[in-house]
Amino acid sequence: AKRAGKGTFRLFTPATAEDPRARLELETGLRRALDEDEFELYFQPVVDTVTGRTVGAEALVRWNSADGIVTPLRFVPVAEETGLIVPLGAWVLEEACRQTRAWALAHPEREPLRINVNLSAVQFSRPNIVAEVADTLLRTDLPPEQLCLEITETGLMADTELTIATLRELKALGVRVAIDDFGTGYSSLSYLQRFPVDVVKVDQAFTAGLGRSQVDSEIVAAVVRLAAACGITVVAEGVETVEQRRALVDLGCPLIQGYLIARPLPAGQFEDLWLARPDG
Ligand code: C2E
Ligand code: CA
Ligand code: CA
Ligand code: CA
Repeated sequence: AKRAGKGTFRLFTPATAEDPRARLELETGLRRALDEDEFELYFQPVVDTVTGRTVGAEALVRWNSADGIVTPLRFVPVAEETGLIVPLGAWVLEEACRQTRAWALAHPEREPLRINVNLSAVQFSRPNIVAEVADTLLRTDLPPEQLCLEITETGLMADTELTIATLRELKALGVRVAIDDFGTGYSSLSYLQRFPVDVVKVDQAFTAGLGRSQVDSEIVAAVVRLAAACGITVVAEGVETVEQRRALVDLGCPLIQGYLIARPLPAGQFEDLWLARPDG
């Protein structure tokens, strides 16, 4: 017992395991939240590094629970395990498309925004995902080219043939596809060539290393260069400082997203920010 130490302790309380009662409560809460419309989308601008223009936004879900706002880091994993991500994800997609279309109609003088929607691997691997996306675009009247679906690098790895076929079908609809959290999984740069994607989102871990880690800077530089060669655009996530922005401009990274520009905002605040900025 003396030598049991940390290792043994972890056997009984793995850091990742949650109290099953707390999980069940969360699951019950999520079901009710879906019924009672307690979810809300926040929008974070995606900005052109050269012009400073807001060219798009990422839709990020929030849960307005009785106990306050709950972060998706807490409930998305549970929603994925319970299958609730399917109705939740459908709501997110529909609401994001509806809002984006409404903004385009309300501000016809503006370049239409591109909307990025996170698609869980659970949603992506469902056989009717392409039809669901197509139906949502029809229902909301959103031109397909305004929609970009973000799928994490790890979500793209499973079952490569089917993955590539699904990506091609989505692209055939006219929507764009992004690899999210690029660099965090086990993929290599060759994935950029292998998967038919339009956008790669460099994970914020690399952005954080800019100016501090030579290796991180070189990784970002390599991604930007290879992406350009493959006709893929790059978004650097998690830009928090002017130094990081400057480094990204120097590396030729076309698009950035992060707290330096804005935090994710409720729809009304996002719209105000978008309209307050010079569009050109
Ligand atoms: P993600 O897709 O990688 O989204 C980016 C996350 O980074 C967001 O966290 C965003 O608020 C945060 N972020 C943005 N700029 C900065 C920055 O400058 N610094 C730092 N430290 N963080 C920044 P959020 O909104 O809490 O979402 C966390 C994750 O939850 C997302 O990571 C995504 O994986 C998942 N998620 C959020 N909304 C949805 C959704 O509608 N569907 C699905 N399937 N997953 C979602
Ligand atoms: Ca994302
Ligand atoms: Ca990401
Ligand atoms: Ca992430």
